[in-house]
Amino acid sequence: MTRRCAAIVGGGVIGGGWAARFLLNGWDVRVYDPASQAKRKVMEVIDNARLSVPATLDVPLGPEGTLEFSPTIEQAVTGADWVQESVPESIDLKHRVLADIQASVSGDAVVASSTSGFTPTQLREGAAISEQIIVAHPFNPVYLLPVVEIVGAGSGAMLDQVRESLESIGMKPVAVRKEIDAHVADRLLEAVWREALWLVNDDVATTQEIDDIIRYGFGLRWAQMGLFETYRLAGGEEGMAHFISQFGPALAWPWTKLMDVPELTDELIDKIATQSDAQSGRYGIRELERIRDQNLVGILRALKDRRWGAGDVLAQHDERVRLRTADDPVTEDDSSEPLHMLEFDVLPAWIDYNGHMTEFRYLQVFGDTSDRLLQMVGVNADYVAGGHSYYTVETHIQHRDEARLGQRLYSTTQVLHVDSKRLHVFHSIYRADGDVLVANAEQMLLHVDSKAGSVCAAGDEVLDRLTAIHQQHQALEPPDGAGRFVGQKRG
Ligand code: NAD
Repeated sequence: MTRRCAAIVGGGVIGGGWAARFLLNGWDVRVYDPASQAKRKVMEVIDNARLSVPATLDVPLGPEGTLEFSPTIEQAVTGADWVQESVPESIDLKHRVLADIQASVSGDAVVASSTSGFTPTQLREGAAISEQIIVAHPFNPVYLLPVVEIVGAGSGAMLDQVRESLESIGMKPVAVRKEIDAHVADRLLEAVWREALWLVNDDVATTQEIDDIIRYGFGLRWAQMGLFETYRLAGGEEGMAHFISQFGPALAWPWTKLMDVPELTDELIDKIATQSDAQSGRYGIRELERIRDQNLVGILRALKDRRWGAGDVLAQHDERVRLRTADDPVTEDDSSEPLHMLEFDVLPAWIDYNGHMTEFRYLQVFGDTSDRLLQMVGVNADYVAGGHSYYTVETHIQHRDEARLGQRLYSTTQVLHVDSKRLHVFHSIYRADGDVLVANAEQMLLHVDSKAGSVCAAGDEVLDRLTAIHQQHQALEPPDGAGRFVGQKRG
């Protein structure tokens, strides 16, 4: 499969996050940023992403794309499928940078701006091909938070192309229906931010107290139900209409400062900065980012278990990654030795209290390895939808060595026996570094008519492919441990 290429123009907080998301999802990435420290900063953001992103997934992410730091915009964007502009929020700078991008980029590429506030109309002033420029406004950290506000992509083929690209990297694009300053999210957030500044200014609360009120309270609700669904529940059995009639009048009193902004005097800025230092200053920026990331991973995984909100996006992304990995071609000569099946890293969520890969994850990997073999021989989604499949009826796992956090592992498969109804396989897991055997599993699978709930003969094509692999594997040594029973002495 040809890899797609993303050019990241501006490698700060947001550009670094975009680079990490594209790269970890298998796109080639070229970064252009003239600042002397840009490469170091982008690499630090990518390192943090490598720690957290795999922990959100239950499938191996597949190989990363390539990463380059380009000396010019021209070199970064030439041939790119997607350009993400993430330079500072100044319209003059963005116009200059967008003009440089359009001088070299293909007319088919998407040129997206991360702008928090400018509209596509403002960005397109003086542009060569104006409809190519859209807003794709993400949230920090871009590599973990799925949502992107899309503005200016219309509702036709361009929007489809934008959606497809962003979904391929695990994101949740939301098209904003009308362009307005600051799109939807920052319009909401600015209102909250302005009120928070007043609360500090008026000594009603400190930065710490405001953050506590959010994170111990409504922040937890927002993360999983947003605003309207939360208020629907707050209305009790009578729902939203009752909630509005009860609390609506307060909007007019008003409880808030509305459009007034506290004057950002040196005194107020100093007060906020001092309180913020007292609240969080004991952590360095990257350390605080890692704490944030691990907390987000926990929240996202909890939502994923329930297939709800941002967690549902992750579950769908697992499916996409699984299909993408299954698409990788298997070369003919793979069958002359145990088949090389999956490559994966030991993820943080896989570690037990001993610091090792925990037991049930071995079964998960062996199950995924069987699925990979079945996909290779034609037991794919269509085959299963047609009412046939293989079910595992017996598994014997032997643990041979340890696997620790972050280690790269791979699995192999030797087919021991095939007949029309039975498939007998021997899987092994190795550490990639040194090819050390970590575990193996012997499994028996039966071919079934899933509607009838009974064993039946596999389809001819599937059997032919399995038999061809088996014939080649018969020339191999029988694997050490095949046929072993639990408790059998080695010797
Ligand atoms: P930043 O200051 O962290 O990064 C900007 C980067 O652009 C810097 O590394 C700088 O060296 C580089 N740059 C400056 N001039 C350049 C040029 N001519 N060509 C290439 N690179 C250049 O800023 P940021 O927070 O990453 O914000 C970037 C954009 O993303 C802004 O439009 C902002 O509104 C938007 N955004 C920011 C956030 C956020 O939380 N920080 C969230 C969403 C969107």
